[in-house]
Amino acid sequence: MCEYCHQLHCPPGCPNYAPRMSGLTCEECGEPIPVGAVYWDVDGACVCDDCLKTISVFDLLDRKGMTYSDLLELLDIRQMEAEESSEGIDRRDERC
Ligand SMILES: [Zn+2]
Ligand SMILES: [Zn+2]
Repeated sequence: MCEYCHQLHCPPGCPNYAPRMSGLTCEECGEPIPVGAVYWDVDGACVCDDCLKTISVFDLLDRKGMTYSDLLELLDIRQMEAEESSEGIDRRDERC
């Protein structure tokens, strides 16, 4: 029994209170992840919520073996080349 709160399981606020640990450890900061906390599965690696925010999108892509171009392709964002429009052609007339 706890000497401070005289309870078997210390509530938050007791000096002996320790959050239950999930057994998972963040692979970025090495901190254990408490039960109920949010964590991210980054390609099989366990990453805590705080750490995920510090990882750049480029780093994440790299971890997934993707390049920035792959991401753009996935989002259907294509690189286009502006072409010189033919002189004297009004595109609205073409449809008629
Ligand atoms: Zn206690
Ligand atoms: Zn972390």
